[in-house]
Amino acid sequence: MDLLKKKIRDEGVILSNSVLKVDSFLNHQIDPVLMKEIGREFARLFQNEKITKVLTVESSGIAPGLMTAIQLGVPVVFARKRKSLTLADDLLTASVYSFTKQETNEISVSRKYVTSDDKVLIIDDFLANGQAALGLAEIVQKAGAKVAGFGIVIEKSFQKGSELLRSKGFRVESLARIDSLEDGLVQFIENESEVVNV
Ligand code: 5GP
Repeated sequence: MDLLKKKIRDEGVILSNSVLKVDSFLNHQIDPVLMKEIGREFARLFQNEKITKVLTVESSGIAPGLMTAIQLGVPVVFARKRKSLTLADDLLTASVYSFTKQETNEISVSRKYVTSDDKVLIIDDFLANGQAALGLAEIVQKAGAKVAGFGIVIEKSFQKGSELLRSKGFRVESLARIDSLEDGLVQFIENESEVVNV
């Protein structure tokens, strides 16, 4: 995903050695052209998996999750971080420690929308220590559904999330893999099989 890497290089703001701000295209303002590309790429990567549902977590996972769901022709469900009056009973829940907010949230999904018939593709904007991803996987498993894998927009490979998920046998596809944010520079892990668009 050269377009994504270019966006990160040109517009990403390194807040510390471990936090990248991408508010201009992913976390606040959203670049629809980039989201469309992201959706296409995740759909291509998981096209043979017979996905029945995309699952993400509000709010920054919704845009890439929706674009992926459009391409796959399946619904997208987002886990809620706050209790809602209209989301009262029969919830699947998981506790998630937030890396950026440094607090624990209970995320929840109605049992109605993830069922034992589902094969679920989990999408999120960032993968850091893997807590959000594992919380979503826990919800899928509590529903008796199957996790087909994870589609991550930006993986910070120097944190432990990707290793943790892969060690549990999950398939993880990340569109940009960051090796380091040190010295104010974004260093990507280059992927040999990546198609380079000139
Ligand atoms: P994890 O649960 O893997 O530790 O962290 C993933 C979640 O934290 C993502 O859903 C994302 O919202 C947030 N996050 C983690 N690292 C970053 C980062 O460097 N920048 C931004 N903008 N969000 C991050």
